[in-house]
Amino acid sequence: MSLRPASTPQQRADQVLERLAELFEIGRRAGTNRPGLGEGEQRAHDLVASWMAEAGLSVEVDPAGNLIGRLPGSDPSLAEVWTGSHLDTPPDGGMFDGALGVVAGLDAAAAVGAGSVRRTIAVVAFRLEEGCRFGRGVFGSRAMVGDIEPDEGDLLDADGVSVAQAFAELGLGRLPTRGWADPKPACFVETHIEQGPALAAAGAPLGVVTSIAGMAGFDVVFSGSRGHAGTVPMSLRSDALGAAARFVLAAHEVAGSIPGAVATVGRLVALPGATNTIPGRAELFADLRAPDAAGLDALVERATAAAAEAAAAASCTAEVLLRWRYEPVAMDPATAAAVRRAVAGLGLDPVDLPSGAGHDAAIMATAGIPSAMLFVRSDAGGVSHAPEESTGADAIALCAQALESALRELAA
Ligand SMILES: [Zn+2]
Repeated sequence: MSLRPASTPQQRADQVLERLAELFEIGRRAGTNRPGLGEGEQRAHDLVASWMAEAGLSVEVDPAGNLIGRLPGSDPSLAEVWTGSHLDTPPDGGMFDGALGVVAGLDAAAAVGAGSVRRTIAVVAFRLEEGCRFGRGVFGSRAMVGDIEPDEGDLLDADGVSVAQAFAELGLGRLPTRGWADPKPACFVETHIEQGPALAAAGAPLGVVTSIAGMAGFDVVFSGSRGHAGTVPMSLRSDALGAAARFVLAAHEVAGSIPGAVATVGRLVALPGATNTIPGRAELFADLRAPDAAGLDALVERATAAAAEAAAAASCTAEVLLRWRYEPVAMDPATAAAVRRAVAGLGLDPVDLPSGAGHDAAIMATAGIPSAMLFVRSDAGGVSHAPEESTGADAIALCAQALESALRELAA
């Protein structure tokens, strides 16, 4: 990586893209592999720390292993302005998810420059944002605000490694039990790719997030009767997969009738799984999301009712078990307005949209830190958590400039 100063919007975008490409090569197979609290994430943190130091930021690693680079403002008594995201990825992840928010945050802070605003600007890389390794994500941001569960250290990954063990192996010691975001920052702005097709469809490179979706995850088990595929008349069957199939379609229909809601069944197992046996049991996982609390309540209630109806229609029974539920989180109107002004200042129409994915900004907002998100267009149909993840250089250049002016205003 060269030390040349990046100055024009095009040079800055080029440098952001070069850095994202360099991070993408860490743990590279089909995509990049940087599981949270793992070796790849650590290498990414080390690399970004070196870029922070190169840009003149003071670098700190906090008790959760989060990386924080500070650009001092002229008045250290004022609360700080934070920006950033995460550097871990799902298996074979893409180049932009998480990393863009950290790299663009560093670019914007460096462009603002030390001492030119009153508030200190901090660029943060949160640890273990993705939930796929241990079944629970947003670890670094939750730790920072004191929201670590008592069982957190015992959560295991697929190789039987616990959170506590992975944490200790990085030389971070014991899991922190209390938060330290005190005094609270004045605000937090997270830049992130949209991970969906809405901005591209609207012809907009940038968007401003209104709220982060509420979500609920359920195990649903349908029980019927096994039988011979050739001998049991249709009228006498209790086909558990038949019930599950009805439920999947009903859940889609329920979500389609609630504004902004989505329902996904991404895992379904029919048992015993023989081609000539009527399935006696079907297990599935339903992921339900809605942008506001009323929508999530309606979605959960109607999907739960749909499971019972689907079971009854196939002469089966249904068991519904809630695994997790996160309430929707509204973004802070004043902080979002600053982001909106920054987007409009580039001559763009600021597009408001909800986020269907969870983010560290939801944790910050829930902890009472005024938070906003700048969304950047996802190309290639909005594909994410995949090596095909793509965002054009035009959108990268605009996001860097919008974030810089939002930070200038918020830190003024
Ligand atoms: Zn992300």
